[in-house]
Amino acid sequence: MKRFAAVLMGLALVGTFGTAALAAAPADTLAEAKKKGVLVAGVKDSLPPFGYVDEKSREIVGYDIDFVKAIARKLNVKLELKPVTSASRMPQLTEGNIDIIAATMTKNPERAKQIGFSHTYFATGQKFITNKGKVKSLKDLEGKKIGTAKGSTSEQNVKTAIPTATVLAFDDYPQAFLALQQGKVAAVTTDEAILAGILAKAPNKAKFEIPPVQISNEPYGLGMRKDDAKFIAFVDKTILEMEKSGEAKKIFEKWFGKGTDFQLKRTFKITADK
Ligand code: GLU
Repeated sequence: MKRFAAVLMGLALVGTFGTAALAAAPADTLAEAKKKGVLVAGVKDSLPPFGYVDEKSREIVGYDIDFVKAIARKLNVKLELKPVTSASRMPQLTEGNIDIIAATMTKNPERAKQIGFSHTYFATGQKFITNKGKVKSLKDLEGKKIGTAKGSTSEQNVKTAIPTATVLAFDDYPQAFLALQQGKVAAVTTDEAILAGILAKAPNKAKFEIPPVQISNEPYGLGMRKDDAKFIAFVDKTILEMEKSGEAKKIFEKWFGKGTDFQLKRTFKITADK
């Protein structure tokens, strides 16, 4: 009888959370990763310098990757990288296909209802790439077609900032930039650091610019399952240590410092900010 009740309860749980979540997502990633000897990170694979495929090594490299590398090293486990998109990263995490999101992800209260976030490990703000000389203020984008990525804060923010614009949401930003090059949209919008990365790699970059028009602040967090308290604490501790030891700054300089494709100032420090 007891067993029957347990089965019934199990079925009720499956009904509530879905089979994939129940079967795959560990509640204690820290213990599970140590047991398996591997940590699985969801990352971008076409957004330099955050996560992109290095032409020589054919491996995914970047600012986001270096953070999860450091976390896996501290855990003493191997790191497996799985490409995600802005729209797929949260379901991939909650379904247990990845253990941590390191994918240009803004932390905000709406998302924090569904997943847990680390302290802020990067900070940027949303801007636009446009044809040179075309956009001086938001007014110049009214009624225009604007490309961005599905499931991003960029998509939500631009709809609020320019209600008259037609927003075309692509799988990721390189596709949106292609639409700009083909004249199908008047602008691409997302975080400035991503736009600068796209522009730096563009063959015809002299035709485009990022006007000084910012519509939001975007603090990035590493995403983890909401109930995964020990792992979240471990990741927070690790990135605070990385700040203290200078490793976090070194990673920033490696991807955004002098001699890189584009330069950014480090306007933030990793601090306990929750
Ligand atoms: N940081 C923003 C977001 O999390 C835009 C970049 C992205 O789509 O990953 O939605």
